Amino acid sequence: MRLVFATHNQHKVAELAALLPPGIELISLNEAGITEEIVENGSKLEDNALIKARYVYEHLGLPCFADDTGLEVEALDGAPGVYSARYAGEPVSHERNIDKLLGQMQGVANRQARFRTVIALICQGKEYLFEGIVEGTITTARQGSGGFGYDPVFLPNGFNRTFAQMSLERKNSISHRGRAVDKLIAFLKNKNC
Ligand code: IMP
Repeated sequence: MRLVFATHNQHKVAELAALLPPGIELISLNEAGITEEIVENGSKLEDNALIKARYVYEHLGLPCFADDTGLEVEALDGAPGVYSARYAGEPVSHERNIDKLLGQMQGVANRQARFRTVIALICQGKEYLFEGIVEGTITTARQGSGGFGYDPVFLPNGFNRTFAQMSLERKNSISHRGRAVDKLIAFLKNKNC
């Protein structure tokens, strides 16, 4: 079975391909012949994941899935959420996003936050959603140099190291994306798309 991962990020594809059950060939958007950026203009993670998966399904008719992730900060009413990538505007800059977040959180006592990933899968013409969440807190300053995005300021509950201070294996084993992917894989093990 060929399964399209609606992303241009070959790194994400390779990482996931290694976890899939045998018999599933995972292909990226580029490999599927879709080179354009799919416009993600939804107001929820679920919408954006579905927009991307539907685009692929409509163009190729192949089983496919897409993911979307956001950092949801309680004291900021869930912001930056679906706008996490462009929180500090264009062009996308993780450094400026973190600066803006730390600025908004200055003097704020409630530092609860969570990363949430939503995966939308279209399998035999039906849509399925899988969600992965990791709860944590926002630090008051950057800690660590690994990872990407908001990793240096996200401290997962139960750990005294930020995502940016963890190995990739450790992060994946507890992360929002790891948890959503686990659910997708469990589904694909039991169902032929
Ligand atoms: P995407 O949906 O995977 O493209 O993620 C959207 C944005 O959320 C990214 O540009 C990052 O700012 C943030 N983000 C997603 N996943 C992570 C993560 O694992 N660590 C830190 N930031 C993340």
